[in-house]
Amino acid sequence: MNDSQLLRYSRHILLDEIGIEGQQKLLAAHALVIGAGGLGSPAAIYLASAGVGHITLVDNDTVDLTNLQRQIAHTTERVGQPKAESARVTLAQINPEIDVTALTERVDDARLAELVAQADVVLDCTDNFATRHAVNRACVALGKPLVSGAVIRFDGQVSVFDPRGGAQPCYSCLFPQDQKFEDVACSTMGVFAPLVGVVGAMQAAEALKLLMGVGASLAGRLLMLDGLHMEWTSIGVGRNGDCPVCAKK
Ligand SMILES: [Zn+2]
Repeated sequence: MNDSQLLRYSRHILLDEIGIEGQQKLLAAHALVIGAGGLGSPAAIYLASAGVGHITLVDNDTVDLTNLQRQIAHTTERVGQPKAESARVTLAQINPEIDVTALTERVDDARLAELVAQADVVLDCTDNFATRHAVNRACVALGKPLVSGAVIRFDGQVSVFDPRGGAQPCYSCLFPQDQKFEDVACSTMGVFAPLVGVVGAMQAAEALKLLMGVGASLAGRLLMLDGLHMEWTSIGVGRNGDCPVCAKK
């Protein structure tokens, strides 16, 4: 690290659990952030400010006026632009020393496998079950840790699915692929703006810890937030022995 980097990251380096060694791990790391909306904005901003050396942002959508209430990586003047590119501009302004790849595309299983293979950690910041399951399948197949977040109305949840951990569950163990979950979109249900910041920032925290190998992750636990009464609930989640995604691994 040069003098400017030592200054930029000094408040991390001061932490015994991180130090120069941990910061160097972040600088050498590659995080894949899928979704540059409400969760992806704060998650990517913290990954960038904290010095994750390479961030790939994937989103096929464009910035809409209705996004700006909570999707803090975007600005009024960038309405109409691709979200991935808009977020890339924000990250570059905060930390020009890192590499950010912005991909404006809808990813299928094959493309996800390519992108996940290149990443050290994956953040699921999407808003539909089909993509969540596709991301989970790729992470299990390639043995990559997945940090998952979701927010709707006043409710949030966050967890880590780490296929490197042996007996840990995957996303599909909790939410089976064949189960009928209604996609409840923000466009119809509404979402309390700061909750995506809370959950997205927690996703960044878990991703940074996984990249540095410090502390204990949320693997095996699901944290649920009732934002209306501001109460957290932590529940233990186990592996489903019959899970079609991870049981054979
Ligand atoms: Zn599973």
